[in-house]
Amino acid sequence: MSTASEALFARALRVSPGGVHSPVRAFKSVGGTPHFMHGGSGAFLEDVDGQRYLDFCLAFGPLILGHADPRVRDAAVAAVRRGWSLGTADPYSLELAELITARIPWVESIRFVNSGTEALMSALRLARGATGRAKVLKFDGCYHGHADSFLIRSGSGLAGQAVADSAGLAPSALAETIVAPLDDIPALEAAFSAHGSELAAVVIEPIPANYGLLPQTREFFGALAALAKRYGALLIFDEVITGFRVAFGGYAALSGIRPDLVTYGKIIGGGFPVGAYGGTRELMALVAPSGPVYQAGTLSANPVAMCAGLATLKVLDAGGAYETLETLGARLEHGLAKLPGVLCQRAGSMFWICVSPEARRTAPIRKLPGIPVDAASGYKRVFHRLLERRIYLAPSAYEIGFLSLAHTREHVDTLIDAVAAALEG
Ligand SMILES: *Cc1c(COP(=O)(O)O)cnc(C)c1O
Repeated sequence: MSTASEALFARALRVSPGGVHSPVRAFKSVGGTPHFMHGGSGAFLEDVDGQRYLDFCLAFGPLILGHADPRVRDAAVAAVRRGWSLGTADPYSLELAELITARIPWVESIRFVNSGTEALMSALRLARGATGRAKVLKFDGCYHGHADSFLIRSGSGLAGQAVADSAGLAPSALAETIVAPLDDIPALEAAFSAHGSELAAVVIEPIPANYGLLPQTREFFGALAALAKRYGALLIFDEVITGFRVAFGGYAALSGIRPDLVTYGKIIGGGFPVGAYGGTRELMALVAPSGPVYQAGTLSANPVAMCAGLATLKVLDAGGAYETLETLGARLEHGLAKLPGVLCQRAGSMFWICVSPEARRTAPIRKLPGIPVDAASGYKRVFHRLLERRIYLAPSAYEIGFLSLAHTREHVDTLIDAVAAALEG
């Protein structure tokens, strides 16, 4: 018996590459047909066959309040009623910028764009404009969007592909990108001593979360910040996932390490398309029209997205949110720790389930070579068994899961029990 999703996917394959508009959605790495979801509410997604799924993918990160949160919906609907694109200066982006700059001292000035990818492209251009240097240092397994400069050894959508992460990249762009392994201070020192004086920036996901979740040590960040400073390279924290997720001010707030530039996305738009980059007033003053670094966008600071982002950040700013999310996350981690053959690495409400008999032995996993080779096949099995039980995880072994404020202890326990059953059966 074929499902409505299968029929839609057959049609989608005829009109779009792989039938999707972002690669991981296609289920290629776990096999099977992607379920076409027609909506979501709270902790649940509903597919076109009328099945409800307890969702731990949450649109890959933006939905920290859950699906279709009424506060965000009301703000977005009100913005639509007033006019959904103005192309002018507007009070909504001002209010969002004022909230962020008031709460996050290292962001004195901020520019809104339309995606995380754009935020990273723009931050790198700004770093190049500020330093007069061309090269950028990134880390193995960190994803910074799909601009040429960053698509080298970069993450889950690309896991399994050989050497270059994509065809069609300009060799000249790749030549300016240096890649270092995570969690390896000697390799970091070597990269700086070889290229340090040519580096415009060093960019990192401070909690790498696009190739599993690979927490880094404080020592590593200490070395990174010191080397960047010594060599005059700007330190860019890519907090597209971690910003407003692990704390309002992201990893920088948790760690006390101050980046020169920071990028945001995902949560900052409340689930609408937004990205942002920010930093000191002095650096950001280099951006057009106040400075010579050009960057623009027809739909930038779209009022619907700004109002949805603002509604989301106000809830997070009101207090208690991160404590609640930490409690839920800890419950999940402890529940999974009792199961054999699975490792859960976690930061607040972000978690990665690594399914392999080897996983615990090498824990904590902090860099790519530590990920067991059978993690993908193990995850594939668990993913489908969970899907049968109407639990939706990201359709890739290397994507992480998320909890939201719409999730309850019972939802977390449902996931733990389902993983236990999947591992047994
Ligand atoms: C998702 C993500 C991006 C890219 O953001 P898009 O909005 O998908 O372009 C960049 N960096 C990190 C760390 C991300 O998780």
